[in-house]
Amino acid sequence: GQARLLVVGGGFGGASAAAFARRRYPELAVTLVEPKTRFVTCPYGNLVIGGVRQMGDITHGYDGLRAKGVRVVHDWATGIDAAAKRVRLQGGETLEYDRLILSPGIALRWGAIEGYDEAAAERLPHAWVPGDGAQTLLLRRQLEEMPDGGVVGLAIPGNPFRCPPGPYERISMIAGYLKRHKPRSKILALDAKDAFSKQGLFQDGWNALYPGMIEWVPANRDGRVTRVDAAERVLETEFGTRHKVEVANVIPPQSAARIAIEAGLTDQSGWVPVNPVTFESRAAPGIHVVGDANIPGPMPKSGYIANSTAKQAVASAVASLRGEAPPQALYYNTCYSHVGEDYGISIVGIFRPNAEGTAIVEVPNSGGVSPRGDLPEQRRLEATYADSWYESITKDMFA
Ligand code: FAD
Repeated sequence: GQARLLVVGGGFGGASAAAFARRRYPELAVTLVEPKTRFVTCPYGNLVIGGVRQMGDITHGYDGLRAKGVRVVHDWATGIDAAAKRVRLQGGETLEYDRLILSPGIALRWGAIEGYDEAAAERLPHAWVPGDGAQTLLLRRQLEEMPDGGVVGLAIPGNPFRCPPGPYERISMIAGYLKRHKPRSKILALDAKDAFSKQGLFQDGWNALYPGMIEWVPANRDGRVTRVDAAERVLETEFGTRHKVEVANVIPPQSAARIAIEAGLTDQSGWVPVNPVTFESRAAPGIHVVGDANIPGPMPKSGYIANSTAKQAVASAVASLRGEAPPQALYYNTCYSHVGEDYGISIVGIFRPNAEGTAIVEVPNSGGVSPRGDLPEQRRLEATYADSWYESITKDMFA
């Protein structure tokens, strides 16, 4: 009969995989399992927090995938039986597959920062997993309720984590809101790293747009937050400095999502090692793990990479079912960030498996970052490229 492709997780990797599979291989029977009926993207969530986009702008439904012939099941996958090729759902159903694409995203490591658990996140939001948008709106509301002159504190994790430039775009969008509405306020960004993605470009933009508003504290100046007091809204660092703030955005350390851990696919790092050509799990060939849950070598955990690698994973799965070799792989990434609503910067990387097929490497001289300097037209254009990217990738996934 028809070959069955099962996709678990309807976010950047999973929705991309399901849509691509139906477009490219109409003979496949494709089922997508995703608990939520509406998907709120993390990309552009920072603009919602800054008040320059609305929640409706970043919310997508699954009717487009249904119209393509994908069977969409709104449920949680609770167990994977790799040997029997079956996935159990919370609602009781069991789905059989010939190939599984797993893109469940990340789990937040509750307790990795002492005192930061699910209850604390109701006072100190993370807004780092899509969920139903409640965390994003909570952070937005807290900023709206904060008096002018208040301090917004951020705790930023070490590598690797979801969306390397994301925390710094968030700082920028919060700064934009404060500049417009609460100009005496400050941002204190406490970082567990000594350097970050597009650092020079971000800091140039902060100096130009938000002079004096943002203090970024690297790990080597005691920036690593190790403990929080949710009731007092205190962020405490490695060497015991206690920062009391009016609003706190805590982005905790992360791992692959729970289903990947429970299926035994992760290693000690908490992430899923994969074959760099087919994205099959090293622990369970036949299960292709894409998106932020895997260890993608030098590639960032981005929606763009999730989309790009999902297509290679689907093509490899189909090739394998046909007894063919997987297609040659090339992976693309562009991470746009907004420093201001009309001020965009980007980083581009192109990646491929090495000659032995044992690891992923960046293609020499392929990528780069936006030029530095006083280039208002370039920044304005890149903000519009970012908007176009968002529109096209969400169409690729959901339209
Ligand atoms: P997700 O998109 O999170 O999707 C995972 C899905 O799996 C979820 O819908 C979840 O409900 C579902 N799921 C989990 N467990 C189960 C289960 N057991 N059963 C069924 N379903 C399950 N990337 C960019 O490329 N560009 C950007 O500009 C950008 N901006 C960002 C800004 C912020 C603030 C953040 C936090 C991230 C940003 N990213 C950006 C990164 C991007 O959001 C992630 O890289 C991307 O979402 C990863 O895709 P994924 O499929 O792994 O996970």
